[in-house]
Amino acid sequence: MKYADQNRLKEKWFDYFQDTLEYLRDRDLLRSLCPITPPTGPEVMIHGKRYLLFCSNDYLGLADDPRMKQAASQAALTFGTGAGASRLISGNLELYNTLEQEVSRLKLTEASLVFSSGFAANVGVIPALCGSPDDLIISDELNHASIIDGCRLSKARVEIYPHCDVERVRDILSNRPSSSKVLMVTDGIFSMDGDLAPLKELFALSLEYGALLLVDDAHGTGVVGKTGAGSLEYFGLEGTEIIQIGTFSKALGGLGGFLAGPKGAVDHVLNRARSLIYSTGLPPSVLASNTMALKIVREEPERRERLKELTRELTSGLKKLGFSVDKGPAPIFPVIVGDKREALRLSRFLWEKGIFVPAIRPPTVPEGKSRLRISLSALHTPQQINALVETLADFFWRGA
Ligand SMILES: *Cc1c(COP(=O)(O)O)cnc(C)c1O
Repeated sequence: MKYADQNRLKEKWFDYFQDTLEYLRDRDLLRSLCPITPPTGPEVMIHGKRYLLFCSNDYLGLADDPRMKQAASQAALTFGTGAGASRLISGNLELYNTLEQEVSRLKLTEASLVFSSGFAANVGVIPALCGSPDDLIISDELNHASIIDGCRLSKARVEIYPHCDVERVRDILSNRPSSSKVLMVTDGIFSMDGDLAPLKELFALSLEYGALLLVDDAHGTGVVGKTGAGSLEYFGLEGTEIIQIGTFSKALGGLGGFLAGPKGAVDHVLNRARSLIYSTGLPPSVLASNTMALKIVREEPERRERLKELTRELTSGLKKLGFSVDKGPAPIFPVIVGDKREALRLSRFLWEKGIFVPAIRPPTVPEGKSRLRISLSALHTPQQINALVETLADFFWRGA
């Protein structure tokens, strides 16, 4: 090939990048990164200015907890910064054992298995459970992107049902080919709406039809249920016959994902999940602080209590503004404005008043459902919540 041809081909790539970015910009869908000066907490520094933060998933305020930092730094000083290999080679540090015991203890399951992230857990576990085109996966339309990708990576047939529509799930189950293995998969608490899945009904259906239920409780773990075990505990369900996915990156203030369930399922996944087999283990610091987080969840129920109080406070504030806040116990509040541009305008308005809540647009949420997703931490103060409600009132009612 001539040099000029090669150049022209390369230019094509760069034209393509430009076209994509222009396409997104024209449709108010362009995304960019915002530099946050750590630590993150109820307030953060951005470009040297202080902002109230209402969009983090650090629900219990553990990401900057002194005990977490102590555990992480001590482990790094003692054991180094890397696992050096995947878990099935030489990367299965003893710290994993302690951490997995703590996960099983919280979730009351026989066994558990820690992954590098919640995303890695879903894209590993789902194809590991359901690998054949004869298998069927039944998945809620609002399930997290990592569940969707897990379904895509599995070779199973996937049926999507309308959000929380139990009757539709029953239809799909009763029409399935009798020979297929069926996996039902749902978020425990939906990440963008904060509502709970109808787990009791779904579990009953799973028993009735011999299907396996997988609940991704990324937002429930540490937050809901009496002991913080998550949405199964909230509904009074046991973890003996349900597969649970979770993450350390939200209420647990760290990084990593996990699977918790019966030992047979966990051992099966250990032998099949590509995101575990072909990826390096987590470093000592992360394993140690995750273990500390589970200890804090167990020993300090007052953090959950406080989060509940703040959740009640914001619920009543939003109701006074005229929003219909009809939701469960999760500290997640969708302020749905519909139009992308309007969501951006609201986000910018808050930003100018020193409050950081980015606009959530398609494809993260359906077209016409753009919103601000407000989330709370146990470290927020009632004054901070009041400031947020007042600023929203300015936007919606005082003609800003
Ligand atoms: C955040 C999230 C994940 C991904 O977890 P990470 O640990 O951040 O990779 C998976 N599932 C759900 C429902 C989530 O909200």
